[in-house]
Amino acid sequence: MENCIFCKIVAGVIPSPRLYEDDKMIVIRDIEPKAKLHYLCIPKTHFALLSEMDAERAEIVKHCFSVIPTLEKTLGLEEGYRVIINQGENGGQTVHHLHIHLLGGEKLADF
Ligand code: AMP
Ligand code: ZN
Repeated sequence: MENCIFCKIVAGVIPSPRLYEDDKMIVIRDIEPKAKLHYLCIPKTHFALLSEMDAERAEIVKHCFSVIPTLEKTLGLEEGYRVIINQGENGGQTVHHLHIHLLGGEKLADF
């Protein structure tokens, strides 16, 4: 997708070290961490919103949620973490390529 920063990261046009990669997703560090540890799980396929879900995309999201728990130790998230998917304007989504935030490395504030 043209002008999508996460598509550019997935394509390697914008360099970003990958902490994990497979055929469906990558995990990178958030450039502006909102917690001691802040990662982004980014599906390689572009779509913006959960409301754009279809069977194929659901498989990709399912894959992400299957892999994330296997990375807890590697990512230093064994003590727990928060999973966030911001949706649209009110959700504070700034990059319109669906992604999963993983926040941890410290006790997070209640929200
Ligand atoms: P959201 O507000 O849910 O759309 O999240 C977008 C996230 O992407 C923000 O937390 C940004 O800090 C992060 N971000 C934007 N550009 C980059 C980049 N080049 N590398 C890593 N993270 C990025
Ligand atoms: Zn994209």
